[in-house]
Amino acid sequence: MTERYPRVEVNLEHLRHNIRTVVEKCGAFGIDIAGVIKGATGLPEVAKAYDQEGAKWIASSRLEQIEDAINAGIKKPMMMIRVPMLSEVSEVIRLCDYSLNSEEVVLEALNEEAGKQGKIHNVIIMADMGDLREGFWDKDEMARVCKRVEDEMENLHLSGIGTNLGCYGSINPTPAKEQELVDVAEKIEAVIGRKLEIISGGATTSLPRIWEGNMPPRINMLRVGEGIILARDLELFYGCPQPELMKDNFRLKAEVIEVKDKPSHPVGEIAVDAFGHKPTYVDRGIRKRALLGIGKVDYADFGEIFPLEEGVEILGASSDHTILDIEDSPREWKVGDIVEFEIDYASVVFLTNTRNVHIVYK
Ligand SMILES: *Cc1c(COP(=O)(O)O)cnc(C)c1O
Repeated sequence: MTERYPRVEVNLEHLRHNIRTVVEKCGAFGIDIAGVIKGATGLPEVAKAYDQEGAKWIASSRLEQIEDAINAGIKKPMMMIRVPMLSEVSEVIRLCDYSLNSEEVVLEALNEEAGKQGKIHNVIIMADMGDLREGFWDKDEMARVCKRVEDEMENLHLSGIGTNLGCYGSINPTPAKEQELVDVAEKIEAVIGRKLEIISGGATTSLPRIWEGNMPPRINMLRVGEGIILARDLELFYGCPQPELMKDNFRLKAEVIEVKDKPSHPVGEIAVDAFGHKPTYVDRGIRKRALLGIGKVDYADFGEIFPLEEGVEILGASSDHTILDIEDSPREWKVGDIVEFEIDYASVVFLTNTRNVHIVYK
């Protein structure tokens, strides 16, 4: 059979290495890992790798992905990490052992549904520590709701509290921020009269606390996706080098469908492009260019895919085509050639989410 393109090649061995490394490093600080699979659209092979290499929970923001993980035979507890919609409460109870929560009305619905399904569902209550996405802002209200779960919601178990940082508000999970979360936990423990089992200190962006050895002691769970799947962002954006992690777990390969010399400035009256935008075009004279059989529908934004080949530059894209300038490339280009790209979180989530892109494991 001929190899099909475009494709995303997944290096499972390198992915496994990253999971093992992060699980071990966090384990040394008493921190368990929830393996977040949404960054790779919940590919069952990725979920299985997390399972086999020591993640304690399998976590996603999407119930469909959690169901796929269960169907792949994974027995680990499943965790819903987007605060549930009221309309998905029955599925959350059916599929998940844990969920992150921030609304009393949803907790009431979860409690009632867990009763109906004869289950005890574990909840982690989210504190907003300044990133301004999900979670209680008012920590007195949070403590009151925790107390209600503890005393009145008999089909829920209050496992602990958590926070999410570095997503909307770009807030850095500094040691002081993590300590603030521990302080909130201790305030809630005083109200409910017992220790919480889980203090979930964040996601990938909290990993520098482990690498730098300055995580407050009571944080005992992190929910990690990008920092394992791609391990790209901390080095690029947080100045936290992680030489022990593999960076080539996901690669995109696309096929050349046309090679021609063409003017670099469009010829005729300029109107709008395929998406109604008015881009500017630089006139660099006649240049050699290649057209690829992949486009915005597959990866969304060509600024999020990075050609690994010297002298290759992305000029633009439409729904199904990507246009490369190859004038400065030393290679003799021909139709059928394959171009390889590094991809980031944004492009991986799109590329793994479409049936037009083949996923190949190696
Ligand atoms: C997506 C998400 C994570 C994982 O984020 P990464 O940056 O991929 O590690 C953790 N927690 C919550 C609540 C999330 O939504």
